Formats: sequence, structure tokens, C-alpha cells
Amino acid sequence: MPDDLIRFTRGVPANESFPVDELIECAATALREHGTTLLQYHPVRGFLPLRELLAEAASAPIESVFISNGSIQILDLLTRALLEPGDVVLVERPTYDRTITTFRRAGMIVKGVPLEDDGMEIDALREAIDVHRPKLLYVIPDFQNPSGSTMRADKRAAMLSLAEAYGVRVVADIPYRPLRYVGEDAPGLAEIAPGQAIELSSFSKLISPGMRVGWMRAPEEIVDRVAAIAEDTYITPSMLSQGIVYEFLAQGRMPATLERLKALYAPRLHAILDALNARMPSARWVRPEGGFFLGLTLPEGVDGAEVRAAAPGEGLVLSDGTGFFADGGGSRFVRLPFCALTEREIDDAVARLARVVDRVRRDG
Ligand code: PMP
Repeated sequence: MPDDLIRFTRGVPANESFPVDELIECAATALREHGTTLLQYHPVRGFLPLRELLAEAASAPIESVFISNGSIQILDLLTRALLEPGDVVLVERPTYDRTITTFRRAGMIVKGVPLEDDGMEIDALREAIDVHRPKLLYVIPDFQNPSGSTMRADKRAAMLSLAEAYGVRVVADIPYRPLRYVGEDAPGLAEIAPGQAIELSSFSKLISPGMRVGWMRAPEEIVDRVAAIAEDTYITPSMLSQGIVYEFLAQGRMPATLERLKALYAPRLHAILDALNARMPSARWVRPEGGFFLGLTLPEGVDGAEVRAAAPGEGLVLSDGTGFFADGGGSRFVRLPFCALTEREIDDAVARLARVVDRVRRDG
């Protein structure tokens, strides 16, 4: 067994991506310019200058912008604001596992709509809406976690019009959208139907997850309900982080940061695609055009749990693919996060995975 374990589990930014020196400067400026505001209790919706910048970028009114401690916290608040225990929520199958656990903890019934390489199956969505009468539909349209797929433009439009016809609220979680390494952007949901979908996004993948700055764009009435729950939960969000992010954006640092991130991550995407082509021709995978993840389906007859159990023997750690499937399935699914590994580690990890799969096939 190799003594250097490779973790093919961690959906995190690369440590070397963090702009530490720039953040030291931004923190100093933020404290110098806005110290009293940032260090005091503050209205719960977030640091006003940052809300203004985000509203301007989204061409949305400032009242529609709410900032909190990471987007997963906003999803939790939204769930409490909009849903009652027993309500049905539709998600893509597979979807982000923490979203499933967040909904379930609040008592929701979570149903999955099958995902194809270019977004959810629209006929299956129509049927699921018809049968389950969901209150809410949660999607990750760009470089989806965990599959890496991006929803095709016509599917976006079809999904939005179905949701509107049946009165289903749509929540679009778009933290990876700015991280496109190849190809052209699909239209944002807000471009197709302004204001229909609630959008969640985050600086976790663009600056740092440890800073905990995520944001929501939603109708004002929903922002009000979320803000009331937030205030009773934590009074004030992490203002210092918001001040630092504000300085980062206001000083115009984001465009160069995005270019740097793309230059770091694009070769990692190419490395995983090359390695899979060369070493795992009998598996199937989505070809992501951005983001952090590639979803792999193991060859027919190969069980993911057995592969996961055997992986440490080849010096590899894999996550449980079934956790991404709301209502069953996923026994052959493996999520491969490619951004926090170097190209060499990726090639090595895929070689190890191929050996594990061969072994499981032989022994099975
Ligand atoms: N949504 C998705 C789709 C994610 O992949 C993640 C992070 N893995 C989150 C939300 C959580 O992000 P944050 O750090 O902003 O809470």
C-alpha cells in the first residue's frame, strides 16, 4: 500500500489559491476605513457597501440582497422561512449532500429528479411536480456539485416556465458559476426570467471559505422573512469578513483573481479528463467545463461501496456516492473533486482508482 494517501474527497479550494497578502491589505484598509461599523453589532442584512456592490453587479435593488455567513447558512434560514415540516422539496439527483441533510433536518421530504449530462430531465421534472406538488425546487445549474454538469439553456427556460406554471419556488445555488475553464456561459436564470429564481452564491470558492461570506438575491418580502430569523439566530453576521470582501471587490481585485483561479484549475480539469480517458475507458463521466467536481459512474457491475472499501489499500480515499442521491441510487457514483490536487496527484489518483476498480472486478 502506498504510504502517501491521496484524498479524492475534498471539495475545497486549493490552499495555494488563497490571496493571503491581498487579504492582509484589505483587512487593514477595512479596519482603518470602517473599523467602528465592522466591529459593532450591525443590522443583520449585511455590510451596506457590500450589499450595494452585489446589488449593482446583479442589476437588482439593494433590498433584494442579503449577506450571511456562507450560503449554506442562508439555505438553512430560507428553509425555515419558506417551508413547513412535511413539505416536498425537489432536487437534482444527484445533488449537494449538505443540501439534502439541511432540508431533511427541517422535516422536508426530499425527492430527486434524474440529472443528465446537460441538466435535469425535463419530462421527469414535470412528472415529479405533478405527482409530488413540491413547494420548492433546488438546482445547481452551473458546474454542479457533485456531477460537474451544466444545465443547457433550453432546459433552464423549460424548468423556469414549469415552475412558474405550477407555483413552485426555484432556488438556484450558483457558487461555481464564475469558474468556467472552457466553453461559453449558459444564460443565468435571472437573464431568462428576472427575479423568478432565488439565487444563492458565495465567496467561498472565489476568495476563501473560512471567511464565511455568502449572499442571496431574493424578492424583498423573502429577504425580510429570512432577516427576521437570522436576527434571532445570530444577531449580526461576520462583519469583519464582509468588510474585507468589500475592500477586495471595491479595489477591483476580483477580475485578476478569477483569471488566476482559472489558470490554476483549468490544467487540473484537463489532467483529470486525460487520466480518465487513458485509464478508465469503461467508466462514464460528465465532462465539466468549470467548477470543482467531476461525477464518475463506475463500470456496470462494479459496486461503489466495494471500491470505496478497497481504495485505502491503493492509497486512495473516496467519498460515499450514495449520499448525493436523495431517494436511492448512486451505488456506482463517485464524486471526484479535482481542484485541490496537483496535476501529478490527479494522474496518480486516477491510476490508483483504476487499479482498485480492476481489483474489485477481479475479486467480485
Ligand atoms: N452550495 C454548493 C453547491 C456547494 O458546493 C457549497 C460548498 N461545497 C455550498 C453551497 C456551501 O458554500 P458556503 O461555504 O458558502 O456555505
